[in-house]
Order: sequence, then structure tokens, then C-alpha cells
Amino acid sequence: MASNVPKNSLLYKNFHKHPAALVESASGIYLRTSDGRNILDATSGAAVACLGYDNQQVQQAVIDQLRSVPYCHPGFYKTQSAEALADFLVESTSGFMSKAVLCGSGSEAVEIALKLAKTYFSHLTTPEPERSHFIARVGAWHGATLGALTLGDFKVRKEPFVQLIPQNSSRVSACSAYRGMRPGEDEKAYVGRLAQELDDEFQRVGSKNVCAFVAETVGGSASGCAMPVKGYFPAMKAVCEKYGALLILDEVMCGMGRTGSLHAWQQEDVVPDILVVGKGLGAGYAPVSAVLVHSALVDSLQASGKSFAHGQTYMAHPQAAAAGLAVQRIIKDENLVERVRIMGRYLERKLKDRLLPHQHVGDIRGRGLFWAVEFVMDKASKTPFPPGWELHAKMHSRGMEKGYEIALFNANGSCDGYSGDHFLICPPFVVTEEDIDEIIDRTARVVEDTFDELLKSAA
Ligand code: PMP
Repeated sequence: MASNVPKNSLLYKNFHKHPAALVESASGIYLRTSDGRNILDATSGAAVACLGYDNQQVQQAVIDQLRSVPYCHPGFYKTQSAEALADFLVESTSGFMSKAVLCGSGSEAVEIALKLAKTYFSHLTTPEPERSHFIARVGAWHGATLGALTLGDFKVRKEPFVQLIPQNSSRVSACSAYRGMRPGEDEKAYVGRLAQELDDEFQRVGSKNVCAFVAETVGGSASGCAMPVKGYFPAMKAVCEKYGALLILDEVMCGMGRTGSLHAWQQEDVVPDILVVGKGLGAGYAPVSAVLVHSALVDSLQASGKSFAHGQTYMAHPQAAAAGLAVQRIIKDENLVERVRIMGRYLERKLKDRLLPHQHVGDIRGRGLFWAVEFVMDKASKTPFPPGWELHAKMHSRGMEKGYEIALFNANGSCDGYSGDHFLICPPFVVTEEDIDEIIDRTARVVEDTFDELLKSAA
């Protein structure tokens, strides 16, 4: 090879250089970079690494799988790991779901969910081929592939590709007590208003054209832990049922224990027709995601005698399945979902005590170990900071600097004023109270020092 081959060939976002830090080792909840930083990962990567970075049982399970069957064609064969992970997932839904598709990323799983919903209507005894419209929500993020982008509302990532993105979707308001509820409105009235908005949208696009309503059970990257208020999902499901459409819940970020129950919908008095999970499923030890299908849909699809026109080389990948299975067994055996609830209450109290009094912290919301801190210029009016200030990015960069060394998942108001700048705190399930104290301390210094500098330069 020629010796003048340029270095820095890895492309993520930036064409002229890769600005990210080189990670040399990772253990517990810390990542060590080549320049000597020891970064406390308060965000589990992107709500992924729920067991931390050096779980030897998971590592061993992946090695064992690699040595026995590293790969086999997913259409011709299956492995015990893949079968056992699918069984585990189905059983975890108390009998509501009866099949699981295993794939690699959240975006792929969302694509599969859309195609399965469409397939369900195409294979009915009396097919409903006109059902191809999806209603999603403002401030949503469902992934980076073209089908997933049609549902999403993350303008920076969507607009450059608008001509490529299928146009068969529309959006209704998300559920956000902080941003959406009107003064004087109670939760019941708010839910009624949102259900009416969804009903109106079905009418507008033609109720027989709608395939599914798609929502993150607890909003993630773009909306910052936007929580459903009581009764929200049952009311939305009732509208879907009224018009014969499906409810798809995307729990790629909020699922697999993150919010204090294995599935976030289990706290909502609702059952989705199709469920999408990812991230924490394999805890980052391998890329693995899944789509779970309600038994009523499976029965109907089976009765049709037809198949699902979908296939990918790396579906049900053995090592990914082995990682997912090992992670989920540990979460179950060590009762880590209960730990998420206990540590979540500690994190909530500490976060609110330390950060809520800050003049620019507008809202702190979340559940389990899934929390967002939203910043506003003015608490009373909830006015966000101008997007040009890039507050969320500044906080993230400062957090990564020597002396702070904390990873905060930065997100922003790229949803055009839907929410202000915010970051997520979603540490691994194995955090201790001491880890949380350290997270709060470093986070508070990032927030205070960022504002001190910003307000000084604005003065
Ligand atoms: N859905 C949701 C709710 C997500 O948060 C994400 C990723 N942040 C995705 C889908 C896409 O997952 P991936 O990045 O693994 O493709």
C-alpha cells in the first residue's frame, strides 16, 4: 500500500476530520481516552450500555457463540441463542406478543415494524391495501433510515433528504406536560384534546388510509424524556381501534428496563400491536434490536398462509443474539429493573435538588434511569434559548473537557421550538449512589460554568 495514505479515514459526520476522542479502554461506567481523560458515562452511550463496559458474563457468552457458530444464513438456519432470545422477549410481554424479529439497529427495526404493519393489512382475508399512511408525533425520533425518517421530526437530519423520504406520514402533537398542557388544563382534559387531535388527523387523511399511529412510549433523543400523562396511551389506542389502525410503540431508547419496567408500555395500561426495542437489549456488547408482534396480528398473518417479504443478511445474528440473551438474563437474575427504580428515585431527588433551582433550568423530567434537563431563558415564559447559541452542544463539549470528564447526551430544540435545549442523563443500571453523586456534581459544574461563560460573553 502507498505510504502516503492519509490517516483519519473513519467518517462519521464530519468530512474533513473525525473530531471524536479515541477510546483506548472502557470499564465499569468509565471510558478512557488516549489523551488521558477518564470520562464518566452518565448516558450509557446513547441509553445503550446498561450493564457498563466490562461485564465478563456477556463477553464470555459472545466469545462462546463466536467459537461455536459465528454466522449462519438467517433464512436457512437458526441458532439456539436467537431462538432463546426471541422466546425471552415474547415471554416478557405476558403473552401479548407471540413472535419476535431480530435485527441489528433501532432504525432497521422501525423499518421492519412499518413493513409488518403494511403486510398485516395486505394479507387480511379482505385486504386493505390503501392503508399506507403513518401518523407520528411532533418531536419524534425513530431512526436515520429513509422509512424511519418519514416518521421523525428531527429537522436537521431530515431536511437534506426530503426528496428521498417517503411522504406517507403526518404528525400530531406529542404528549408533554411541560410544553403541551395549557394553563388551567388538567391531565384528563389534556388527554381528551390530544385524542381529538389524533381523531381529526385520521379524518383529514382518510381513516381507511391509516396503517398505524407510531409513538415513542417515553420520548427520547429529540424530545427529551417527554412523558405520557396518565391515560394518554389508552386514549390514543382507542382512536386507533375506532378506525381499525395499529398502534406501534417505539421503545428503542426507553425500553428494556430503562424506565423502571422491562417495557415502558407496561406502566401505561396499554398494549401495542407492534413493539420495537433496541439499544439496551444488547447493552452495546453487540448491535441487536427486535420487533415484537402481537399474537392477534401473528394469528391473522399465519392464517393468510402468506409470508413477510423481508430479509437481511445479518438478521438474528448469532453473536448479537448471544449478547442480547446474556444481557437480559443478567438483568432478570440480578433484579436490575428494580434497581433502576430505586436508583432512579435517588437520581431524581439529587438532580432536582441540585439543578432545579438554577435560573435557566426549566424542567427536569423522566422515570427510572431516564432523565432530561431542559433549559430556558426564562422560567415563567418557558422561552427556549436561540438555536444559534447551540447551548446543548456547548454543554456536551464542556462535559468532555479535562476537569469535567462527563458524557451528557446532548439534544436540542431542532424540532423547531418544540422543546428547548436539553440533555439526557441515563446512566447504566449498575450505577451506585456514589456514582450518581459524582454524576450530579460534574453535571452541575458543567451547567454552572457554561452559563457563567455564556452570560459573561453576552453581557
Ligand atoms: N427509535 C428511537 C426511539 C431511538 O431513540 C433511536 C436512536 N436514538 C432509533 C429509533 C434508531 O436507532 P438506531 O440509532 O440504533 O438505528
